[in-house]
Amino acid sequence: MKQKKFILQESEMPTRWYNIQADMPNKPMPPIHPATREPLGVEDLAHIFPAECCKQELDTEHRWIDIPEEVLEKYKYYRSTPLVRAYALEEALGTPAHIYFKNESVNPLGSHKINSALPQCYYAKQEGTTNVTTETGAGQWGAALSYAAKVFGLECAVYQVKISMQQKPYRSSIMRTFGATVEGSPSMSTRAGKDIITRDPHHMGSLGTAISEAVELATTTPNCKYTLGSVLNHVALHQSIIGLEAEKQMEQAGEYPDMVIACFGGGSNFGGIAFPFMRHNISGERHTEFIAAEPESCPKLTRGRFEYDFGDEAGYTPLLPMYTLGHNFRPANIHAGGLRYHGAGMIVSQLIKDGMMHGVDIPQLETFEAGMLFARTEGIIPAPESSHAIAATIREAKKCKETGEEKVILFNLSGHGLIDMTAYEQYLNGDLMNYQLSDADIEKNLGSSK
Ligand SMILES: *Cc1c(COP(=O)(O)O)cnc(C)c1O
Repeated sequence: MKQKKFILQESEMPTRWYNIQADMPNKPMPPIHPATREPLGVEDLAHIFPAECCKQELDTEHRWIDIPEEVLEKYKYYRSTPLVRAYALEEALGTPAHIYFKNESVNPLGSHKINSALPQCYYAKQEGTTNVTTETGAGQWGAALSYAAKVFGLECAVYQVKISMQQKPYRSSIMRTFGATVEGSPSMSTRAGKDIITRDPHHMGSLGTAISEAVELATTTPNCKYTLGSVLNHVALHQSIIGLEAEKQMEQAGEYPDMVIACFGGGSNFGGIAFPFMRHNISGERHTEFIAAEPESCPKLTRGRFEYDFGDEAGYTPLLPMYTLGHNFRPANIHAGGLRYHGAGMIVSQLIKDGMMHGVDIPQLETFEAGMLFARTEGIIPAPESSHAIAATIREAKKCKETGEEKVILFNLSGHGLIDMTAYEQYLNGDLMNYQLSDADIEKNLGSSK
């Protein structure tokens, strides 16, 4: 009998997160203040985020950071997550490649986002915060935060991108079930929201509009902190639990990945699975290829430009050094809501500049074809976001079929798609399409923060 699934014992579970910033040959450039153009320190960020998260954000020294005991306890509810050898998918593709996936869909919230929601709420609580707020696109981050806030006894208010609220109605019910307040963004409850609606009454929202609203709420409400489920360095730090577990599980399987692939919104699940393996590339021991799969309709990694840009649409956040399509970029209403963000995290942006990894952009229909094949072979309906990683994996596995190479490919299944069935329904009915962007579309919003 072939062994298919690898799980860690409690005693084997990682107790520290990995901070790739300590090992990066070129550190990420600092976030800067939009008016003064001065680099930001922990104090500048701490009026928005929990202080411990700010410290982690700017920590370029400590390679390993202890996971707090209380967070480890909560991780144990659903971790370790399984590493699975996808024999059925391999067989369907007729590829000599060995395909493994790390299944982050098995927790009750259904995506990897809970890995960072728990520590963020834990730190907020420790610091005496009573309320947390955030934005959410597809709803996975909002759901994870709502649950984590409840676990640590915090009130939670979520701004959800309006289009996602309509496409995925049950997500807001999930957040409200955990006790959160949910508003569609742009909303009339903040100045930023009102301004956006005044300019465009039919604005269906983006992560950028929702971030503006949540940041405004956090900065105008006492004892309220803003939290972010992606993009930032401390989020990728918390997500490193994925790759650290996978490293041990690959060892159990007796293999090491030639390629690590994840879908890419702001970089948290990618960083989570990739960075622990990348440390062996940085030290020169290994030569793994790292691929971030983004939507063709929101191609910041493959067609964006490296520049300082705002993290949100209204320009409330610090300026961040990143590959971006411009903070005013409006992605098409694709179903992978979690990948509709205009920029990439600072660490990943620097790593791309330094040639340590690369992006690949994938059309919407190809991602659904990949998701269907995965569902029909492995029995798991993937999130439309995760299907980008599956599509990129399938492309590579097909190349192996042509060359006869037995590459070991590891991809991250960032979440399941069971609350995305309207998207599958539309695909099955032939109602989905691709969205290609011309160079002029891409150029339009670049350089807009200058
Ligand atoms: C949010 C989300 C993503 C995209 O965010 P990253 O920070 O790039 O990982 C991908 N997959 C799922 C299931 C998500 O919920």
